Amino acid sequence: MNSYRDLLQKSDSDIFAALEGEERRQQAGIELIPSENYTYPEVLCTLGSVFTNKYSEGYPGRRYYGGQKFTDTIEEIARERAKDVFRCEHANVQPLSGSPMNQAVYLGLLEPGDTILAMDLSHGGHLTHGAPVSFMGKLFNFIRYKTNPVDGSIDFDDLRKTALEHKPKMILCGYTSYPRDLDYTAFKKIADEVGAITMTDASHYGGLVAGNVMRNPFDYGFDIVTTTSHKSLRGPRGGIILCKKEYAARIDKAVFPGLQGGPHMNTIAGIAITLKKAAEQDFHKYGLQVLSNAKTLATELTKAGAHLVTGGTDNHMMVVDTEKSYGIDGKLAEEVLDSVSITTNKQIIPDDPNPPLKPSGIRIGTPAATTRGMQDADMVKLAGWMIETLKNPEDLNLAKQTKSEIESFCSSFPVPGL
Ligand SMILES: *Cc1c(COP(=O)(O)O)cnc(C)c1O
Repeated sequence: MNSYRDLLQKSDSDIFAALEGEERRQQAGIELIPSENYTYPEVLCTLGSVFTNKYSEGYPGRRYYGGQKFTDTIEEIARERAKDVFRCEHANVQPLSGSPMNQAVYLGLLEPGDTILAMDLSHGGHLTHGAPVSFMGKLFNFIRYKTNPVDGSIDFDDLRKTALEHKPKMILCGYTSYPRDLDYTAFKKIADEVGAITMTDASHYGGLVAGNVMRNPFDYGFDIVTTTSHKSLRGPRGGIILCKKEYAARIDKAVFPGLQGGPHMNTIAGIAITLKKAAEQDFHKYGLQVLSNAKTLATELTKAGAHLVTGGTDNHMMVVDTEKSYGIDGKLAEEVLDSVSITTNKQIIPDDPNPPLKPSGIRIGTPAATTRGMQDADMVKLAGWMIETLKNPEDLNLAKQTKSEIESFCSSFPVPGL
């Protein structure tokens, strides 16, 4: 690895300088974007390996190019480990990221124009769950269910009524900004009543399912689970589709040749490594700490007067209504936190009256901070810094002092691989 770095430094100082800058940035601040994480050094090793040179269109044993002895090995290992970790019958590890992963499921199992019942975007659904601006939103007929913003519950009576009326071919649950676990039994019951396929997009919390600290949709009879590999799972950027055997052939065909060409074998090697680690006891402990850190952070923020959407969290994330809590919009909240080296992202809240680029809240999560070894006592400190900063968004002296405290705090939590 080091020799690669030396080469880069000599041959391209611009990119090398940016790399070093990003390394310093990741080390110096606290990463609270709930979809981000730090991957393992072993994964960084495979990402920068000769596996990136190889074309492997097709699947193990059925490729369109020669020279597949070692690529077949890593893909077979990755698939088997995925099936074990998620307790399911089939796995496809080729999707290049989360969005093509979901597209492949829709394209493989549905016809254009078919109806999908999914969570409303402002209540926590993802762009790929049929936002009008997304390609999938144009191709399929998405209808929406919402959550109760007071307690975060999903109104299953209303969801059932909608399902009976629209007869969706698929009921999709899973989210990108919803701080609760899901009642898969209730989704499955309604889906069975209308004959819909059940799909969970566990992109955010796939690692917490793998670590057995959140519910596994397959335990409740779900047909399809998708997850990114780079969020709570801590792997390289990619997507994994997990499903019952009866859907395997259609899913595989939709990924390749339906949607993609050559898979990224350097990523797939990293996914295999990630899944081995996900089966270990340490990863279960990691998952428990992610949840505990989120609970502690949520409790501390709430004690100091913050309004959290749904009143708290059962998972790795929370959404703070910054308008209600501090009288500032999410864009400004993100900016002032950035100025003290705390990274979050602005977030629309359910039925947000504000526009998406200046929404009413921010979204924060604990997977990345937990990877660096931060624990509950650290969350108490972190909450203190956040509250002071958000209550005094114009106090530049305070910001300067807080930033320096945070950067010195961060120096005792190394970033894996640095
Ligand atoms: C992150 C995410 C995706 C998309 O993943 P990308 O890798 O960014 O394409 C899809 N669904 C959900 C719920 C997500 O959180």
